[in-house]
Amino acid sequence: MWLNFRHALKSAGAASDQGKDNGEGHGDMTTIRATCGTCGDVELTTIDVQVMISEESGEGTYSFRCPHCQDVVVKGSPRHTIDLLVSAGVRYSTWGTPVEAPLDPMAPAFDYDDLLSFHAFLADDAAVAGALDSLPH
Ligand SMILES: [Zn+2]
Repeated sequence: MWLNFRHALKSAGAASDQGKDNGEGHGDMTTIRATCGTCGDVELTTIDVQVMISEESGEGTYSFRCPHCQDVVVKGSPRHTIDLLVSAGVRYSTWGTPVEAPLDPMAPAFDYDDLLSFHAFLADDAAVAGALDSLPH
């Protein structure tokens, strides 16, 4: 996997003095080169790529839709690559370990009776729907 950044002028006319003075940063776009498993190297812009970052490690994944085959490509990336993508202006969101009720260390072990109860519970659509509804949204 490799990524390469370079600035590409959005339009040929942007090379004029007027283009340079007007709205700094608006005239050019960062081109991101990434690799599609089917098509090989493809060129993307920052709006084509989305990044998900782990709040704990700073590592994450980036994803894009291949402009050639339309496949969605998702790749894991080390922190420095993620940082590069974000600094280039790629949209990102973060995720962390979900906040759940802590496990009770004194609770009895999960046994076969519990498994059977759980099996019966899963067979009851109304009970499952009710339990899902009770989760915080
Ligand atoms: Zn492709």
